[in-house]
Amino acid sequence: MTFRITDIRKQCETILNQIGISQYMQEPSSEIINAQFVQLANFHDGRIVVVDEDFTVIKDTFALTVGKTMIAPDVIDCFHGKERSSYDADNNYIQQAVPVKDPVNKRVIGVVVITASTQSIVDSLEILNQKATVLIVLILILCGTVAFFAAHQMVRPFGEMGKRIEVLSDGFIDEKMQMHNYKELEILTSSINKMIDRMKILNDTRQEFVSNVSHELKTPMTSIKVLADSLLMQEDAPVEMYKEFMTDIVDEIDRENKIIEDLLSLVKLDKNSNDLNIAAVDINEFLELTLKRLQPIAAKRNIELLLESFRPVRAEIDEVKLTLAVSNLVENAIKYNEDNGWVHVSLNADHKFFYITVSDSGIGIPKESQSFIFERFYRVDKSHSREIGGTGLGLAITRNAVLLHRGTIQVSSEENKGTTFTVRIPLNYVVS
Ligand code: ADP
Repeated sequence: MTFRITDIRKQCETILNQIGISQYMQEPSSEIINAQFVQLANFHDGRIVVVDEDFTVIKDTFALTVGKTMIAPDVIDCFHGKERSSYDADNNYIQQAVPVKDPVNKRVIGVVVITASTQSIVDSLEILNQKATVLIVLILILCGTVAFFAAHQMVRPFGEMGKRIEVLSDGFIDEKMQMHNYKELEILTSSINKMIDRMKILNDTRQEFVSNVSHELKTPMTSIKVLADSLLMQEDAPVEMYKEFMTDIVDEIDRENKIIEDLLSLVKLDKNSNDLNIAAVDINEFLELTLKRLQPIAAKRNIELLLESFRPVRAEIDEVKLTLAVSNLVENAIKYNEDNGWVHVSLNADHKFFYITVSDSGIGIPKESQSFIFERFYRVDKSHSREIGGTGLGLAITRNAVLLHRGTIQVSSEENKGTTFTVRIPLNYVVS
């Protein structure tokens, strides 16, 4: 309301000057001034009252109080030189008391009390409020609609992605995801595609493994069947023949058993590292014991089996699983060796790892085969290996056991000279 009060005050100014210089306070009959009062009162939809020094009303645009005394606090204050204005919010009007001063000695010779209705402002405010409310509601509806459609638009690709993932989980992993709606989605699809690639590799490996297993398990069975059939077909087969064939059948059964045993070890090692039974072990003692067990096999072919230890080593390992790894390496070093050859096992360590090397004076591994020897069922020379009695699973078992210990395994070999496997394992087991 302040602007309204200032407005009225300004409009009053000229009339007050005229009252001051004219004799209006003595004789309020000036038609020009009265007309101005009426005009001002009408303009503000209000009332103007003029009070003289004796607190007598000399002019009232409503003509109700002329001649009467008006001793209102605002009027008294005005005679003391203080202008007063007040706002009555209940009845919607502003009242302002303005002093009339003598132009010569600046003494207050009267007071003009202006009452202006603020109803029109209140009405306008109400209309404005209503309009603002309607506008806000409209904006809210508009924002809501835009947000709904925008959200729908943004979420749609995720729905599409969900459907494709469902198709994936049904086993159709040949198709790659292509979504370029926005950057985040591209990153997500690229991660999913990587996962699909990995799933494909796993799936292929699994299929290959199953077909290899079936094939490997079938081979001894086929031999057993052929041997048994040929015995059955021969009437009056001599006992010697029976004995010979039966020995072959027993060999084949042993072979089948060995494959199953190796497969079971491999399956156990394929599980995650939670299945490890880690304990601090004296590695020197551990190797001595492992080699002692294998000594008779080496002795059969007069192969020298030696352990060379450079320092005492204590490390956190799963003894059973690492025994499998080392035994396989030493067994291979004996198996693929010449008679009267040698197998040297060494143990060393630094502040972080311990190193076991298994070297032999054997037949060696051709360069082109070295990267495949850790694959399941891979054998350099199938017929020779069969004769020797391999399953092709030994090095896969070794590698898995080493990896479970967060270790590494490397091979260096030269044909007809020998092979060295180097295993490196952390002294302290690191939980991932
Ligand atoms: P296998 O049961 O046939 O021995 P492995 O997985 O232990 O299976 O080894 C895979 C192949 O790697 C073997 O068939 C053999 O050809 C080759 N190989 C492994 N160790 C040696 C070695 N010390 N010297 C020569 N060849 C080896």
